[in-house]
Amino acid sequence: MKRHVTGFERDAEGHWVARLDCHHRQHVRHHPPQFDRPWTATEEGRASRIGMALECVRCDDFEWPAGLARYRTTPRFVGGATPAGLLRDHSTKRGVWGRIVVEEGSVVYVAGARRCTLRPGAGGSAADGTGVVVPEMKHHVEPAPDAVFAVEFWRPPG
Ligand SMILES: [Zn+2]
Repeated sequence: MKRHVTGFERDAEGHWVARLDCHHRQHVRHHPPQFDRPWTATEEGRASRIGMALECVRCDDFEWPAGLARYRTTPRFVGGATPAGLLRDHSTKRGVWGRIVVEEGSVVYVAGARRCTLRPGAGGSAADGTGVVVPEMKHHVEPAPDAVFAVEFWRPPG
């Protein structure tokens, strides 16, 4: 997915890393001729690249970024009474990650080309990626009638 640069920092070896609005990091090396980015060398050059779009493969892989904190959890939804908005394609705002946590039954989760079945204890974990809601990625759920689930919202603290 296309993401936008919000700032830059150096890694442990001094290489420049772009911070993206999805909260992933991406190296922006100046290694001509493969990577011709002389602008990384100056403060002014880097500042001019704030807002630049980069392809983030970590988002495509549903990779949970480090350093997020949960700030809101929806009420528990019961399958047959799931709000209509969750049953059709929708997305979270820029920079907002979600986790679908299933407590009972099963919920089919459809996001991009991915379709999987979430169950209690399997899926919904940030580690396995299956219940991960990626910022701005269209998705919807198809809960079984007896499913009980909630959605958590995560972003960096502060
Ligand atoms: Zn990303």
